[in-house]
Amino acid sequence: MRDHDDQTRRRFLTTGVAAAGLTLVLPDFVAGQTLPATPECKDSHEATIRQTEGPFFKPRSPQRNDLREPGFNGTPIVISGFVLTRSCRPLANALVDLWQADAAGEYDNKGFRGRGHIFSDSEGRYQFTRIEPARYPGRTRHYHVKVQAANRPVLTTQLYFPNEPGNDRDPIFRKELLMRLAGAAPAAARFDFVLDIA
Ligand code: FE
Repeated sequence: MRDHDDQTRRRFLTTGVAAAGLTLVLPDFVAGQTLPATPECKDSHEATIRQTEGPFFKPRSPQRNDLREPGFNGTPIVISGFVLTRSCRPLANALVDLWQADAAGEYDNKGFRGRGHIFSDSEGRYQFTRIEPARYPGRTRHYHVKVQAANRPVLTTQLYFPNEPGNDRDPIFRKELLMRLAGAAPAAARFDFVLDIA
């Protein structure tokens, strides 16, 4: 057990160095841990890959950063990151709109459970508390998201969990859209969106 803890700590310390320049302050429960950027922007200036919206997007989701509510229960997870340009410039006030299946693999198409949007802060950061979605037939575990800087085209994509057995069997899955994860129950996840803006 101790070996495992030490290994985990070393991994975070090492990857924390790689994330220098875009260091993200994580919530208290993972204090001392640093999640690496996705991607490391010094290496990659590619915009985040677009993916299909799927059949369950609903416009006009409520503005809220905590998607937990009565009837929408499951393992909590805090997802945070930056909204960036291709030159790694943080974008303030960018829309981040998320929708997801619940812990039974169902989307709420009547109401807005599992749906919400926020805007990145003055340093381009966003943060959501939500639950881990269930897998549903034909798909590995995923979140849906739309990201948009003011008066710019919408990026529609999906986010995935590392080490999911279903990833390799899902033809839509792309490893470039894997979140970085740390901790457990609740876990912290990081994903940085790179918009196709110079
Ligand atoms: Fe879906």
